[in-house]
Amino acid sequence: STPVATFCALSNAAKSGLLIKGGDYLEILAKIKNLAFDKTGTVTRGEFSVEEFQSLDENVSTETLLYWVSSIESKSSHPMAAPLVGYAKFLSIEPKPEQVEDFQNFPGEGIHGRIDGRDIFIGNRRIASRAGCEIGVKDSTGDGRTVGYIFSGSTEVGIFSLSDTCRTGAEEAIRKLKSLGLRTAMLTGDSQAAAMNAQNQLHHALDEVRAELLPEDKARFIIELKKIGPTAMVGDGVNDAPALVSADIGISMGVSGSALATETSHVILMTNDVRKIPKAISLARKALAKVV
Ligand code: ADP
Ligand code: MG
Repeated sequence: STPVATFCALSNAAKSGLLIKGGDYLEILAKIKNLAFDKTGTVTRGEFSVEEFQSLDENVSTETLLYWVSSIESKSSHPMAAPLVGYAKFLSIEPKPEQVEDFQNFPGEGIHGRIDGRDIFIGNRRIASRAGCEIGVKDSTGDGRTVGYIFSGSTEVGIFSLSDTCRTGAEEAIRKLKSLGLRTAMLTGDSQAAAMNAQNQLHHALDEVRAELLPEDKARFIIELKKIGPTAMVGDGVNDAPALVSADIGISMGVSGSALATETSHVILMTNDVRKIPKAISLARKALAKVV
């Protein structure tokens, strides 16, 4: 590629809010055949609202449960954390993160903290096995919400659900990518029901949807896609980092994304607008065409 064409393309991209960390990535972008999106915070806004929150243990009040959950979630940077903390505060329950000991984050699963002498686990179905237990209650995922389970020790003590919506322009971006000849997929650590809810909101624009993935499962899927052709991954979370580094091109959400995702990516969307991705690919193809 000529230095001038590359420089022009990179600076035009930067002006439109797309940071490409070098000319080499422009060349790879032009050749991308597969593009995988993370769900929460990438295809969706990652702005959850609490729909239900209930105790399943008659010895634990909903208020106590909310106090535990909000105190422990105060230590998490996951998109589900702030809405749960806000929900507690709205009900005049003051979270006390300083009372939480032994905070642990399990990417793709949930979190743990010790509070009031109890070991509390909060997360998806996978967190149950961390708590040494199985989920007894039936999932209320029929509506496609993100469901959270709460364990005290190995006892299931509560359940909650959160809703999120797809970003403006997500469907348009996916359809544009298809018209450029790319295959699209969505990878998520969330449930199958929540993943299909997003796919429905997108009017089934995605070619493939994979749910209940751990961070390393996302990376493994990217490595499989690379066997078919050059592959890009778009994500925002700490849980996306292994997939972002495994991809030929890692793209991160600049505004709301985690520092780790931004550091491990080659392209940063400075405006969180996923429609910039097909634009970047068109731009890269044009820059390359000028050279050959
Ligand atoms: P995604 O791949 O959609 O970005 P993540 O891998 O970040 O999702 O998370 C997967 C699932 O793990 C979430 O849907 C949630 O059920 C659970 N989880 C992760 N972190 C937390 C947390 N801090 N509190 C509650 N649940 C969590
Ligand atoms: Mg995410």
